[in-house]
Amino acid sequence: MQTPDEARAAVKELAGRDVDLIKLVLEPGFPGHPMKRLDLECFKAAVAEAKARGLKTTVHVGTDEDARHAIEAGADGIEHAARGLSADTIALMAAKKVTFTPTLTVYDFDWKRSLVAGPDEAFHGLVIPEVLEGLREGKGPFAAMMGDDAIVKGLGMAFHQGLSSVEAASRAGVTILAGSDAGNPATFHGPSLIHELELLARAHVPLAEVLMAATSRGQPARSKNAGTNRGGGGGGPGGFGLRSLAIGFTGGGLSR
Ligand SMILES: [Zn+2]
Repeated sequence: MQTPDEARAAVKELAGRDVDLIKLVLEPGFPGHPMKRLDLECFKAAVAEAKARGLKTTVHVGTDEDARHAIEAGADGIEHAARGLSADTIALMAAKKVTFTPTLTVYDFDWKRSLVAGPDEAFHGLVIPEVLEGLREGKGPFAAMMGDDAIVKGLGMAFHQGLSSVEAASRAGVTILAGSDAGNPATFHGPSLIHELELLARAHVPLAEVLMAATSRGQPARSKNAGTNRGGGGGGPGGFGLRSLAIGFTGGGLSR
């Protein structure tokens, strides 16, 4: 997606497929792993087109700056914890009623490592044995990530920054949603969303709000498909559901 016209055309096409919301990606990558970030004019055109068509937008962000661009463009939600959100960004999210799906679980590698290596039979009953074996194998990509000190350190930092951002956002009155980003290495559908609720509680989100984050808050208020009980999906629960398409735009093209 190279031009604002292409961005608008992509949103138009998706709107024709009756999606519930559009997910865009603003991600420059991280030290040692740069990514081509979506052009800002394309990004703004996509958000504006979605808005004009009554579709919500939520944005995968990599940094606080990305989050600011998303909020200023009029996005409805922020996905992931952006390796720490600034107090100003959080205040802006509260003022503009931008939702926050921090996906803390995806950064919690201590938990993932213990889950994969540990003897938790209840957990093992929920996952495909071959997948678990693959993760345990010393040569797999998960083991490679775990063996890379820079990655482990960076993720640990992102995890703790994320917990702080969630606590600050919750205090500021930002609406928190529960999503696990399942599909990432060792981020299993099911157990990861439950763990996300534990992490929201660890970040001092009031327990009643933790429950709402995983249930009633997940349905986009303006969704054409509101009330059809779609179940949980990748980015967030409810309205980010199974039949809805969450679409990511990257500098390189379109992904789902
Ligand atoms: Zn994402």
